[in-house]
Amino acid sequence: MVYSEDSHYSMLKACNMLFLKPCVVSVNEDSRKINLMSLKQEVSLSIDNGAKAFIVVQNMATTLFGSIDDVDIVTSFFEQKKLIFKLHVDAAFGGFLVPFSDNIKNYSFKNRYVSSVTLDGHKMLQTPYGTGVFLIRKGLLKYVKNEQAKYVKGNDYTICGSRSGANAVAIWIGAR
Ligand SMILES: *Cc1c(COP(=O)(O)O)cnc(C)c1O
Repeated sequence: MVYSEDSHYSMLKACNMLFLKPCVVSVNEDSRKINLMSLKQEVSLSIDNGAKAFIVVQNMATTLFGSIDDVDIVTSFFEQKKLIFKLHVDAAFGGFLVPFSDNIKNYSFKNRYVSSVTLDGHKMLQTPYGTGVFLIRKGLLKYVKNEQAKYVKGNDYTICGSRSGANAVAIWIGAR
């Protein structure tokens, strides 16, 4: 799983839970932009260590700096090297702010590389905790669902299981 050193600590947590190897890329100290040299080095190190495919996480605003990763630099690198990857956009912090304030390109599903996006209602939208949103490109959701929840109607799509439906309703109303 490829992400910058400025990424949220939950990336490491996800790696631990899913037995994925973190591939942490350094950033420029002033601009907080991903260091391309470091990307090349870390990815080739991962390949040497047996990595066959990558989950690339790009921040649409980091929590500590508000920096936005340059998604095109990273995708063109992976494309050039002909590596297998899926791109996740972490918009937990900036998802309800950046699209309305910054001139950002290629941070939507119009970008064919973007597979999934997360947004937190409890950051800039100021909704209660537990109002995170996960968006995934059509056709990919089947890879995260669990059909074993036989005693409830429908499938389970979360790690933590039971949750309040009131939160989902709150954010739906709030976002409208
Ligand atoms: C807040 C945040 C998360 C996730 O944090 P939760 O509050 O646990 O949902 C992930 N990424 C970024 C960039 C964040 O700011």
